[in-house]
Amino acid sequence: MRVTVAGAGIVGLSSAYRLAEAGHTVTVVAAAPPAESTSAAAGGVLYPPVRRADERIVRWTAASLAVFRGQDAPGVRFRRGRVLGDPDPWWLPAVEDPVRDGDGVAFTTAVVDTPVYLGWLLSRVAALGVRVEYRPLSTLSGLDADVVVNAAGLGAGPLAGDASMVPVGGQVVHVADPGLPGFVVDGTGPGVTYVIPHGGHVVCGGTEEPGRGDTDPNPGVTADILRRCEALEPRLAGAQVLRSLVGLRPFRREVRLAREGDVVHCYGHGGAGITLAWGCAADVAALVTAGRVP
Ligand SMILES: Cc1cc2nc3c(=O)[nH]c(=O)nc-3n(C[C@H](O)[C@H](O)[C@H](O)COP(=O)(O)OP(=O)(O)OC[C@H]3O[C@@H](n4cnc5c(N)ncnc54)[C@H](O)[C@@H]3O)c2cc1C
Repeated sequence: MRVTVAGAGIVGLSSAYRLAEAGHTVTVVAAAPPAESTSAAAGGVLYPPVRRADERIVRWTAASLAVFRGQDAPGVRFRRGRVLGDPDPWWLPAVEDPVRDGDGVAFTTAVVDTPVYLGWLLSRVAALGVRVEYRPLSTLSGLDADVVVNAAGLGAGPLAGDASMVPVGGQVVHVADPGLPGFVVDGTGPGVTYVIPHGGHVVCGGTEEPGRGDTDPNPGVTADILRRCEALEPRLAGAQVLRSLVGLRPFRREVRLAREGDVVHCYGHGGAGITLAWGCAADVAALVTAGRVP
């Protein structure tokens, strides 16, 4: 089948990969290159920070982890880390070697330097014969395809006529990595503070700003993030600040992954798209090929 995938973030590219692998003729159409997507701004730690229990989340997370384990891709490391604030999160069965640790949990998971990984994934997708075009779509109708996959992140809502999508802004600060062994996410405060080392740099965060529309970093917020992260991980004191950036999470009450006629929708991953993408991509490929998820 001829399939057009709208979107070249982690969700669009992983879907395109699975579809091409299944033998479909795939074109990706995206408003901008992967390096400019929300996916490229992510902290990149794989666990589902989703408060509401949803069995699909556990399945998609475990499937994504298995893919990252098997890929040996640049930008991906498996690290141990801690998430504080809930000693018994419902998603714990999805991650590797979890143990309760004080007021939180410790576990091993993939930590993804997303700009590096997306560049690699784009080249893998191209090697499978996928064509990539950069132009914005104003509609999913009239495309030269048998099936269209709507994986356009925040842009997916307008394309689907779904008004329930909300941008949730997130500012992060990259600092030079002093050699931190693992990640830590602290959800015990009024906002979430996280320190995610990638080898060359550490992603320090963060903020959650529902309704935010711009991606201009705020210097006052940068200073506040650095203060919170140093308190959480004192080895960051004096680390060189490399850059600040803002991404807009494509938030929806729950992920929409469903086929409607000749369109397969896959969007609304909020703050967990890196975690869920490969699990969702398998379901997207099944919905395109067989019309249902096995
Ligand atoms: C600060 C921050 C930290 C995060 N940390 C994590 C984390 O640690 N772990 C985790 O799992 N997740 C994390 N996330 C969430 C994650 O980044 C998102 O869930 C994920 O990037 C969503 O991927 P996506 O492919 O759906 O959307 P995007 O990456 O936004 O990609 C959307 C694509 O669609 C294209 N597009 C949009 N509109 C149109 C249109 N009209 N026509 C054509 N193309 C269009 C865009 O150009 C882009 O290519 C974080 C997010 C932020 C902001």
